[in-house]
Amino acid sequence: MVLSCRHVWDYISGYLDNTLDAQTRADVEEHLAHCEICSAVLDSTRNILILTADDRVFELPLGYSERLHARLAQAMLEVPPPTNESSP
Ligand SMILES: [Zn+2]
Repeated sequence: MVLSCRHVWDYISGYLDNTLDAQTRADVEEHLAHCEICSAVLDSTRNILILTADDRVFELPLGYSERLHARLAQAMLEVPPPTNESSP
């Protein structure tokens, strides 16, 4: 099964919590292997989880997930198409 980025974002917290079933986890890992955006999202989310694990008084604001998704959607729109800027 091929996952879209949005599906992967929904699975990332479960991925980090290790609550996904084996097949879903495999699908997510396959997507992450070739998607820089989702890899970045995974890193960011993992960093947030580490912060929250270290400091229990830190709480994510309500709506955080929705805003994260909106920001990601915006970021995807802003990703420039591949160019050959490496040539002088
Ligand atoms: Zn992706």
